[in-house]
Amino acid sequence: MSKRTFTMIKPDATGKSYTGAILDQILKAGFSIKAMKWIRLTEEQAGLFYDIHRERAFFQELVDFMISGPIVAAVLEKENAVADFRTLIGATNPAQAADGTIRKLYAASIGENAVHGSDSDENANIEADFFFSKLERF
Ligand code: GDP
Repeated sequence: MSKRTFTMIKPDATGKSYTGAILDQILKAGFSIKAMKWIRLTEEQAGLFYDIHRERAFFQELVDFMISGPIVAAVLEKENAVADFRTLIGATNPAQAADGTIRKLYAASIGENAVHGSDSDENANIEADFFFSKLERF
């Protein structure tokens, strides 16, 4: 079981100045930050990151949202990181997210849902490689 996951704080949350509160919640949940950057994606980069969703009806909406402002990308470490982080952020749709989860607290809709969390160890590695070189990870 890998100890690392990948996250993004999405443009809705950075734009509403929730970045500090969300990072605080992540750290208090026991995750440590192994890499982090504040970045604005291009349309091509956002499309590549979400390539798996290219055929979905919401794909362009998702890309437009993800390039609408800056994001914070980070690699996080903790035992059972992928599953525990998915629990911490809550369901994709904040209306269905459990009380106290990041999406319940800070997300407005299924599209603009404040944070990303990898859904498997394999994708955590792929997503971390997308954003960070080896030199940028600790
Ligand atoms: P996640 O793993 O919980 O992030 O959810 P998915 O992998 O299913 O979807 C990826 C991202 O696409 C979500 O986090 C949302 O930002 C977006 N998304 C998913 N479903 C919808 C939808 O029905 N409409 C829109 N606009 N965006 C969606």
